[in-house]
Amino acid sequence: MSDETSKGVVGFIGIGTMGREMAINLAKAGHRVKAYDVRREAVDALAPFGIDAAASIADASTAADAVVTMLPDTPDVEAVVHGDGGLLAHPPAGRLVIDMSTIAPGAVRRMSADLARIGVAFLDAPVSGGPIGARNAALSIMAGGDAAAFEKARRFFSAMGTTITHVGESGSGQAVKLCNQLICGINLQAICEALALGRAAGVDLPRLREVLMGGSAASWMLDKLGPQMIEGDASAGFRIDLMLKDLRLVAQQAAETNVPLPATSLVTTQYLDARAHGEGSNGNQALFRVYDRMSGQAPA
Ligand code: NAD
Repeated sequence: MSDETSKGVVGFIGIGTMGREMAINLAKAGHRVKAYDVRREAVDALAPFGIDAAASIADASTAADAVVTMLPDTPDVEAVVHGDGGLLAHPPAGRLVIDMSTIAPGAVRRMSADLARIGVAFLDAPVSGGPIGARNAALSIMAGGDAAAFEKARRFFSAMGTTITHVGESGSGQAVKLCNQLICGINLQAICEALALGRAAGVDLPRLREVLMGGSAASWMLDKLGPQMIEGDASAGFRIDLMLKDLRLVAQQAAETNVPLPATSLVTTQYLDARAHGEGSNGNQALFRVYDRMSGQAPA
């Protein structure tokens, strides 16, 4: 059985902000989940959801129909695939690895080729929708790689997301995700500028946001992060450091393909300014503090 509703065994590696919610939704959908993270406490906290703790990558992987990875950056995924005791040495029984992190498309293609040599399919399937989308099983999932492997993975994707799209060959899921991140960063910058302008004019910011959400300036960022920006709540969410990682990947891709991205360059500078002021572990909405400083309009 491998239709969209059939249940399987998933090894889940990376139980962080996103991975925790995604693993829980896989379990809620009836899949058997075995979870591994270098932070054992993150895995143990999943016991109430019927998720088993794995002691190692091999323990999570060998009996699984598929392994899902949700890790911070390219070297972390490479370590889980290539490292001592990693997936190349201990591939899943179902011969399917699905990386849902945001990482470099070139690294995806290399890992895909290495795993293909031992008969294991590798999908790059990054996500959009943030921790709220992850919690609500409402992620947008953009997958690159073999079409038959994508169909095998669909039953797992449908437990975590609502928009599930095969976008092309290996690495193209990440290419689409980088386009997504470019829009998110520049959109957040536009919101910062609008809030700074409105604040200086003495406009009530919650009311400004409400009006904007009812018109053509509405966006996910304004909807989900706007209230935190206005209240000065910098808790993460999606960390400034992770967005800087994504903007670095965007810049690499742009350089390799000769595409000028002036607006992305500018917003990257502002994210770097945020990190230089100690905001790296804060949520993306803390970009507004760059505007607080530039405008001298910081809230009392
Ligand atoms: P996170 O840092 O909260 O979680 C990553 C987890 O991986 C941590 O629990 C960490 O301990 C674990 N880990 C690191 N190296 C490991 C290893 N070698 N073996 C096992 N576990 C290891 O990150 P996150 O916010 O969940 O993001 C994960 C990925 O998803 C990133 O690539 C990020 O860019 C992307 N993403 C994040 C969001 C978001 O809103 N947070 C949204 C979309 C995509």
